[in-house]
Amino acid sequence: MNTNTNGRSLLIIVLFIQCVAILSVAKEFDFFYFVQQWPASYCDSRRGCCYPKTGKPAEDFSIHGLWPNYVDGTYPSNCDSSNPFDDSKVSNLESVLEKEWPTLACPSGDGLKFWRHEWEKHGTCAESIFDESGYFEAALSLKKKANLLHALANAGIKPADGKFHTMGQIKDAITKAVGYAPFIECNVDSKGNHQVYQVYQCVDASGSKFIECPVMPHGRPCGNKIELPSFSSASSRDEL
Ligand code: AMP
Ligand code: AMP
Repeated sequence: MNTNTNGRSLLIIVLFIQCVAILSVAKEFDFFYFVQQWPASYCDSRRGCCYPKTGKPAEDFSIHGLWPNYVDGTYPSNCDSSNPFDDSKVSNLESVLEKEWPTLACPSGDGLKFWRHEWEKHGTCAESIFDESGYFEAALSLKKKANLLHALANAGIKPADGKFHTMGQIKDAITKAVGYAPFIECNVDSKGNHQVYQVYQCVDASGSKFIECPVMPHGRPCGNKIELPSFSSASSRDEL
């Protein structure tokens, strides 16, 4: 009788611990923001930029990061200091990362510092689904899937200085191609024009499928006259 009761208590405790474990795994995060940026807009803003050591980036969107988020709009960060960025784990991806995930911070870098920052601040908060190389591979694959440059070009929106688009036109072009509305973050060039700076898309908790955004990020307002500036007008600080 006593043994039976003890056995039952033990079972209840084990089940309880399992429930807590499952709940805490499920709560690691709810979805991702996949954030791409328009390098020319990073560079022609007041802060300026420095082209990477590997050269001037292509006139295309580039990756900023894949960020775990909660549906209440908050997000976890720096989740595991015991799993720091290790270059050797992405050595086979380096040439692709240099092209698709270029650093623009000054002074010029090779990208490792930027990738380290993204993995340690955001990637370590999705360790239940990604190891380090898996995190970078997932973002690269999402960039290919989104193909924002193509989506915009199909709607007649091409990089050009002095040509303006409405928020509705930009959003519709991406929504039509991807199936879900993005969030557009703008910044301001030296003439005070608003321009596309970053595009946020929501991705399911497996990191592979675009979804409707459960919550939109807060960002600076864009206005309704938005440029997608050409790279040629942007200069890096090293060239000034
Ligand atoms: P995060 O901390 O991931 O939210 O990203 C914000 C930080 O990333 C800021 O310090 C930015 O200055 C930096 N950042 C954004 N884009 C780039 C880029 N292309 N290269 C280097 N740093 C960047
Ligand atoms: P509008 O072209 O200003 O009528 O905006 C079209 C839709 O975009 C509205 O539903 C706005 O709420 C929404 N919207 C406004 N700012 C942004 C933004 N930065 N990113 C995504 N959607 C936005």
